[in-house]
Amino acid sequence: MKKEKCIAVILAGGKGKRMESDIPKQYIELKGKPVLYYSIKEFQDCDVIDEIILVVGEGEIKYCKEKLVDKYSFNKVSDIIEGGEERYHSVYNALMVIEKCDYVFVHDGARPFIEEQVIHNAFINVKEFKACVIAVQSKDTVKIADEAGFISNTPNRNRVWNIQTPQVFEYDIIRRAYDLLMKTNCENITDDAMVVENMLNLKVKLVQGNYENIKVTTPSDLIIANAFLEGKK
Ligand code: C5P
Repeated sequence: MKKEKCIAVILAGGKGKRMESDIPKQYIELKGKPVLYYSIKEFQDCDVIDEIILVVGEGEIKYCKEKLVDKYSFNKVSDIIEGGEERYHSVYNALMVIEKCDYVFVHDGARPFIEEQVIHNAFINVKEFKACVIAVQSKDTVKIADEAGFISNTPNRNRVWNIQTPQVFEYDIIRRAYDLLMKTNCENITDDAMVVENMLNLKVKLVQGNYENIKVTTPSDLIIANAFLEGKK
């Protein structure tokens, strides 16, 4: 039987304001290679993935092609495009260039510690549930705040998950959800699952990932990221 066609969208179009660095977080180097290198490499090496669409910041296409895609022979990268103002614009731009396929894997380029095994697991789950996200159970108790900054309620920690990427969907589902989203005023959209939940009212399956799959966001994350790489050696 022919394998389903899977396209990964790797997002590297953010400016990384929280990193307090001149370089966007996805290009900061870990052991001599950009953060984004590690994210692409895992999808390149994973046999589930057929193609990769790389979404980069304004004016960064040439840099990414030369310094990453060509340099490291990432031959699954079929397109490099510019992202948009917010993360969901970047995802939408990618959906606009994707030809029909079976599944779309959306991954934050700033998560360099994604593992092939987790991508495989997501594939198994999306085939069963049509929409799934990689996540880990919250180690901390989470509080919901009211507008004045007081605690308004405390969800049961056993039910609280921290959401990561990849977030994986049947092509038709993510395409329909984003087409509908773009007709709204798009407030507070921070991941893809919520687009599918809100626009199509579909259930999204949580798939256990691992705690190392951090988003390298702040300067202290770089220290942690280097420690993870050191530990892998
Ligand atoms: O900003 P946030 O931490 O949610 O970014 C998650 C991922 O989305 C990062 O890899 C970032 O480069 C990407 N992004 C993007 N386009 C934007 C904002 C973020 O591709 N406009």
